[in-house]
Amino acid sequence: MDWRLRGFVLLVLFAAFGLGSAQAQPAIQPTVDITQVPAAAHPSAHFDADAATEAYMAMIPAAAKARSDAYFEGGYWLILWNFLYGSAIVLLLLNLRWSARMRDLAERITRFRWLQTFLYWIEYLLLTTVLGFPLEFYENYVREHKYGLATQSFGPWMGDEGKALLVSLVLGGIAVVVLFAIVRRLRRSWWIWGAIASMALAVVAIAIGPVYLQPIFNKVTRLNDPKITAPILSMARANGIPAKDVYQIDASRQTTRMSANVSGFANTMRITLNDNLLRRGSPEEIQAVMGHEMGHYVMNHIPKFLIFLLIVDVCFFAYLKWGLGWTLKRWGGRWQIRDIGDPAVLPLVVLLAGILFFMLTPVLNTYSRAEEKEADMFGLNAARQPDGFAQAAIHLSEYRKMRPGCLEEWVFYDHPSGYNRIHSAMVWKGENLELFEKTPGQPAAH
Ligand SMILES: [Zn+2]
Repeated sequence: MDWRLRGFVLLVLFAAFGLGSAQAQPAIQPTVDITQVPAAAHPSAHFDADAATEAYMAMIPAAAKARSDAYFEGGYWLILWNFLYGSAIVLLLLNLRWSARMRDLAERITRFRWLQTFLYWIEYLLLTTVLGFPLEFYENYVREHKYGLATQSFGPWMGDEGKALLVSLVLGGIAVVVLFAIVRRLRRSWWIWGAIASMALAVVAIAIGPVYLQPIFNKVTRLNDPKITAPILSMARANGIPAKDVYQIDASRQTTRMSANVSGFANTMRITLNDNLLRRGSPEEIQAVMGHEMGHYVMNHIPKFLIFLLIVDVCFFAYLKWGLGWTLKRWGGRWQIRDIGDPAVLPLVVLLAGILFFMLTPVLNTYSRAEEKEADMFGLNAARQPDGFAQAAIHLSEYRKMRPGCLEEWVFYDHPSGYNRIHSAMVWKGENLELFEKTPGQPAAH
């Protein structure tokens, strides 16, 4: 599963808490043309994985490297700015008692508690969206354009923002109504049942996401080019994947980034390539990427991710129970929040969640990076396209720093770094040279 889906799941989970907006992240512009395997990566008696990796690294022009380093490192700071900016907004809502006033307004409009909660959610979402817009606009529009990753003009971009807001309104609204009902009925065990309920909501979101939510933003169609699909479906059959179709998504509507993913589960499980990958990737590269995605499927990464999410979820609710009790005792009166069943407590929930997930950044990234590494190794074995894999890593370098320090990779990377991915591919190639020596002068074997 790639970061888009993971991000999406976390988004739907935390749409309920309204931090940030639902805009899918955009993409790139061609900087490196990769059509040839560099000399040092050709099979030979003195093939050296380190030298082959460096030869691939040297294909990235200095200007392209400087740009993607700057883009990616800027992303580190954005984690901090998002945290601080989001925290400032919710503290404003609490300290100026706007949150309490929004609740009072909802109570004047209706006497049904669940509807009061939903009305509060609408007010909260609209206000935080407006207050959060400057950073959202900079991060997802201005900055993406500045680095040549975005393809949308302002109008369509705002259109997507509007759609994302509606999705948050509905899905977040359901989550908030359900969770507050649980808190009010189960005064002592709410945190356990809340964790279970939010997990159930996340499972539904993951299941319906690719089929019902993605089409709101992009067109997903069946891929009908046998030249592309035949090797992919063959690889799927060889690895026990019951896929009959491969899908494509018109990601170029928002971005120049290349990507692919495996999403959903059971009946909604599907393999999707984005159109940037189809247009710009070589056949070897597409197979390498598909091998990686199939690794996620074969190694059950989505079910495993759900188990991981359940653990994080239970810890989060336990922390929330403690954190809400502690803060409300001190400042509840001042913020005019009655108790934990009062919808006006929502900004405080968002604040506490923001602190926890900010601290957990390296943990979440490391969990993801470990799975991505597994999928990389599976993909190399399944697709047997180490050069295609190296090409993909270089294409992805358009928005990812290729060679981070160790600590940097551990804290910030949700995938192995480009350097490490190419290196894995070249080590694999070095141990399988016979696959590439049979047809001298020909492209790599399939
Ligand atoms: Zn992946």
